[in-house]
Amino acid sequence: MATGSEDSLTRTDILPVKCPQCGEAQNTLDGAQDPLSPGASVGCMVCNYVFGAEEYRRLLAERQREFEGLQIGEL
Ligand SMILES: [Zn+2]
Repeated sequence: MATGSEDSLTRTDILPVKCPQCGEAQNTLDGAQDPLSPGASVGCMVCNYVFGAEEYRRLLAERQREFEGLQIGEL
């Protein structure tokens, strides 16, 4: 179990981001196994909207903050 490629596999806690067009958080992933790697294309499963790379990163960051907020506020 000694391969440098495992580094990229540790970030599998990727949250689906919300589609700006239909509001659903169901993503499709094309072109790569990691949605953050170059060449990866993330889209919406529901309306086929395709996220831009920067847009996806921004939405993902928002989503992660939202998720952490929910866990903290859950009392
Ligand atoms: Zn959509």
